[in-house]
Amino acid sequence: MTDSSQKNWSKRTRAVHAGTRRSQYGELSEAMFLTQGFAYPTAEAAEQRFISSGEDEYIYARYGNPTVAMFEERIAALEGAEDAFATASGMAAVSAALTSMLRAGDHVVSARALFGSCQYVLDEILTRFGVEVTFVDGTDIDAWRGAVRPDTKAVFFESVSNPTLEVIDIRAVSEIAHAVGATVICDNVFATPTFSDAIAQGVDVVVYSATKHIDGQGRCLGGVILGTKAFIRKTVEPYLKHTGGAMSPFTAWVMLKGLETMDLRVRAQADSAQAIAEALEGTPGAARVVFPGLPSHPQHALCQAQMGAGGTVIAVEADGGQDGAFRALNALEIFTISNNLGDAKSIATHPATTTHQRLTDAQRAELGITPGWLRLSIGLEGTDDLIADLKGALARA
Ligand SMILES: *Cc1c(COP(=O)(O)O)cnc(C)c1O
Repeated sequence: MTDSSQKNWSKRTRAVHAGTRRSQYGELSEAMFLTQGFAYPTAEAAEQRFISSGEDEYIYARYGNPTVAMFEERIAALEGAEDAFATASGMAAVSAALTSMLRAGDHVVSARALFGSCQYVLDEILTRFGVEVTFVDGTDIDAWRGAVRPDTKAVFFESVSNPTLEVIDIRAVSEIAHAVGATVICDNVFATPTFSDAIAQGVDVVVYSATKHIDGQGRCLGGVILGTKAFIRKTVEPYLKHTGGAMSPFTAWVMLKGLETMDLRVRAQADSAQAIAEALEGTPGAARVVFPGLPSHPQHALCQAQMGAGGTVIAVEADGGQDGAFRALNALEIFTISNNLGDAKSIATHPATTTHQRLTDAQRAELGITPGWLRLSIGLEGTDDLIADLKGALARA
């Protein structure tokens, strides 16, 4: 870490300046180092680099790259983490954060309400390698307390679950996990770095899909794992540098530019989401509106205390089940039907038939992903236009 992350700068200032490294040309915008390898002046220097490489000494882009290092340092400064490792996608980050620290015989406790691919990693992959995983209702603190054991090595949750928008009490779950010495790993995508204070609230390892709000304009896949210097350099780095989930330097450059505007974008999207959720409650065709920023949400107070905003994603249960949801989706004019989120363009998703299609009907029912459930990612268009689009479409449900 250079000075920039140590200074007492606000998040907005860190997002623009932290981690900047300049070449001998003094370029203002961060340079894109599109190189796989690095040249050594002598054989002895190459040998030395492999024995121990310093802050700005690189070996191979699978291990690290100057543009990627700028992104890692900037997001670490933003999140208040000691260090970070950038990955090729959000799922590379989730799977590496877990796999790098776990071995056969370990026990993990996870919230049940998860993004489909996170659920696959925990339920299918980890268990195949002899890790025992207990799933709990993440909103039930007694369930966490009852599930942790002396051999629990990690607890995992999405701080706001995809797509059911359950809010996990970070402080309470972290305290329960730490009492048995478990590492707390939090997928923080829906909170975004803008509304996150997860490390101060007790999380040990924060994971982001940078694909979402960090890029924010739908261009590149990326992810990042944030934690202590010891966890990132001694546990995550050896695993990732040999298994190959590195972020490309081009992606890192896009993500650096994304971070510069993220706070403005995410705050505008969250303000818009708040107004839209309020406007949709009680609108014809919407049986239920679920948004942590609404007082009707069961964890509204927790969400306000933890994030200070409801986020940028709203769920609406359309009347008429799947048929009603499909009629509403097909009537949308501004919202795009897609499975992404966090984009400048507003996106509508039907989780039951797309992102959570792999689950059984019973699993979806247990999670509350009903046939009429629609996930709405609010973009940067005019709020009134989005409200009119949604009201018009839901009237057809
Ligand atoms: C999208 C998403 C991921 C996966 O990120 P990718 O970049 O698509 O691999 C993981 N967790 C959550 C909560 C997500 O929304």
